[in-house]
Amino acid sequence: MRFSTKAIHVGSEPDATGAVNPAVYFTSTYSQKAQGDYVYARGDNPTRRALERNLAALEGAKHALAFSSGMGAITTILTLLKKGDHVVLSDDVYGGVYRIFTRFMTNYGISYDFVDATKASNVAAAVKKNTRIVWMESPTNPLMKIVDLKATARIAKENGCVSVMDNTFASPYLQNPLSFGYDLVVHSATKYLAGHADVVSGAVMMSDGELYEKMKYAENALGAVPSPMDSYLVLRGTKTLAVRMERHCDNAEALSGFLDDHKAVERVLYPGLKGHPNHGIAAKQMRRFGGMVSFVLQRPAKAKAFLRKLEVTTLAESLGGVESLIEHPATMTHASVPKREREERGISDGLIRFSVGLEDVEDLRDDLDQALRAA
Ligand SMILES: *Cc1c(COP(=O)(O)O)cnc(C)c1O
Repeated sequence: MRFSTKAIHVGSEPDATGAVNPAVYFTSTYSQKAQGDYVYARGDNPTRRALERNLAALEGAKHALAFSSGMGAITTILTLLKKGDHVVLSDDVYGGVYRIFTRFMTNYGISYDFVDATKASNVAAAVKKNTRIVWMESPTNPLMKIVDLKATARIAKENGCVSVMDNTFASPYLQNPLSFGYDLVVHSATKYLAGHADVVSGAVMMSDGELYEKMKYAENALGAVPSPMDSYLVLRGTKTLAVRMERHCDNAEALSGFLDDHKAVERVLYPGLKGHPNHGIAAKQMRRFGGMVSFVLQRPAKAKAFLRKLEVTTLAESLGGVESLIEHPATMTHASVPKREREERGISDGLIRFSVGLEDVEDLRDDLDQALRAA
């Protein structure tokens, strides 16, 4: 089966009632008189299982686990670490991942290095004897840097490390890291997978049976499990993932070109543009280039005025929903990164991150055009 067929049918096979959608099993526990499969709902739930089968199919994985949030999935993966271990991360990781490492992991005796992973040789150079995890994101947030999936997975493997790819920005429709040799794929299902800005959820996909057993054990032990209703909402969302992603890509391609030509815009960061420094590698490992577009205003001081003028696009954090959302990383998603470090990393005051939605592209373009007059 191909992508959309799997997305629509795996996990939603009609049960004895003939219903074309799985039931939402609101239960905390299970009678064990006639079955031994389900014990307690932190450990398992049939609606969650339906979602997990679907998520595994989307990433071409043998196994998937659903979580209460992307961060729930991420922190559960971190139970693979023990005192004395070291982690190599791409320098433009999600703010919540940056926060977990800089604020919590050192308390547990775990060290880390952030590297510019657009050069795989930087990743190789940062690996130490005690490195246990290579943690990458591609495209990155908010700078849209692209990491070479094959090269970085190989570096991890050669050094006996577990490789983790946060695939949230690409979605499984555009990129499948397991097929390039990654061990674990993590998603904030809050974003493109669910796709409607109505649920917070996360997922981990993998094909290695041993890693799956470890992750499943850790999920039950830590408890960041999704509710049955949230599981259902994500499963409903993934059915339209392919058509949504195609439209996200159409709109983002059109708007990245428009912004690139606009005199109030200094630079556009979109891997689909020929001028993007990692366009070549992006074209090799992604089917299309996604719905996230970042850009830098010529006049950073005008960022707030520009954002306040927008009428169709909503000023908000998060991404990947049907509605366009726009935000100012320096004062919103990345405000917790110290200013000097933020600027060193390229998150300047003029940087804008745009999650291009599924509205008519002409309306989005007209809205940007009128708001850019304030910039
Ligand atoms: C949102 C996000 C997360 C965290 O997911 P939550 O569902 O908000 O907990 C992790 N990684 C990336 C790339 C994200 O965009």
